[in-house]
Amino acid sequence: MPDSLHDLKSKVDNFKEKLENVAHLSWLGLSKDLSSGMSQPFWHKKSSPRKMETHHKRVYERFMKFTKVHVSDEVRRELRKQSFDNWQWDDPEMLILLRQMYIDLNLISKLNIDINVLHEWLYEVYRNYNLVPFHNFKHCFMVAQMMYGLTWLIDLPSKLDTLEIFTLLTSAICHDLDHPGYNNAYQINAKTELALRYNDISPLENHHCAVAFDILKKEKCNITRDFSREQFKRFRDGMIRCILATDMAKHNEILNSFKSIIPHFDFNDKEHKSVLMMVLMKVSDISNEARPLSVAMPWLDCLLTEFFNQSDLEKLEGLPVAPFMDREKVSKSSSQIGFIKFVLLPLFETVGKLFPQLESAIIEPVRDALAYYTEMQRALEEEKAKKDSLAESLEGDKNGLLPGKLNSGSGTEDKEPTGKTQSLGHALALTRNNSSNLRRGSVTLLTSKHSVELETSPS
Ligand SMILES: [Zn+2]
Repeated sequence: MPDSLHDLKSKVDNFKEKLENVAHLSWLGLSKDLSSGMSQPFWHKKSSPRKMETHHKRVYERFMKFTKVHVSDEVRRELRKQSFDNWQWDDPEMLILLRQMYIDLNLISKLNIDINVLHEWLYEVYRNYNLVPFHNFKHCFMVAQMMYGLTWLIDLPSKLDTLEIFTLLTSAICHDLDHPGYNNAYQINAKTELALRYNDISPLENHHCAVAFDILKKEKCNITRDFSREQFKRFRDGMIRCILATDMAKHNEILNSFKSIIPHFDFNDKEHKSVLMMVLMKVSDISNEARPLSVAMPWLDCLLTEFFNQSDLEKLEGLPVAPFMDREKVSKSSSQIGFIKFVLLPLFETVGKLFPQLESAIIEPVRDALAYYTEMQRALEEEKAKKDSLAESLEGDKNGLLPGKLNSGSGTEDKEPTGKTQSLGHALALTRNNSSNLRRGSVTLLTSKHSVELETSPS
């Protein structure tokens, strides 16, 4: 093949790869995921949406080529910021950036890690993320990047030892390995192989962790092969705790135990450090709303796509559907307001008590995001009210009634609201009625006025 043609082919391949890797832009990825979910409802390793082998090979080749290239100081500085924009980078580039994190934190030199083994391990991790809308390799990268940024921001190297830093970064990278795109509630309700294997106890998180250690069993990928028995034991314990902590069913338990130790937090206390590591893992996992809007918004699209795929399948299979996943009941703003108010901010503000530097870096941006979604919700409700009143006027005209006299004696107020025009009270009633269907992946929060079901599992 002539060079110019080869060049053109490679450019087209790269462009296609970029498109396919941006889940919210990938009609291929989305349609593939939905259809495979429909035809194969139960989780099975072989039938999970997988990237094609040829695609993997291309990523591997480019990744290997990039390992010879120097990552500029400018990029390395950018990589430490909470504002980092993943949408600018493709998968091989992100693999290089993950590699750079290990180098810049001195983990390679201090833990005597063979750089070629690190390459093989990173690639194997990449291969074990599925092409699902949200819980994919890019999500793993973003969680690792947030953990990396926090590590510098709160100066963890002066507070934790090298093995603990290594454990945090490695846990972040591995924490959603082989995620099938359907949450724990689905696994349990559908009685999938995963739920059966782990007896309904954090089936996904147990699986992610097991896959992580399975990868490390391969000699060429074993970045821990020079660890002493004691080092490996500490690393394994830490990683299991960190990855299992990402099950949002444990959210309150972990947050409360962290709150109780904050007043006398001691960096020499092993248990204190262990709880802190779990909390940092949780913060990184659900930190998208601390990012700039241009970065966070596509992630929200990806999350809702994954939720809607799940609820569509649940409806088809006659399984319980969580209201926060139902495309008929959820909007971007409604999904985020409760989540930020009752889950994200309380967690971030609590960690902010120990590390005040988090205030401007991630807490303020989350407050801004809350204000943004609140405004969006207000505008939506205003628009809906306008439409409703127009519809009522038209109905009134049809019945020969003047607008304003609609409810006097017409009996319409007793009618059951249906579809999207249902009242807020009715929507809340639906939420409450369905609450018994929600097990893992959601928490019920009691406010002064009503109970609110919140999704808490973009983990
Ligand atoms: Zn996650």
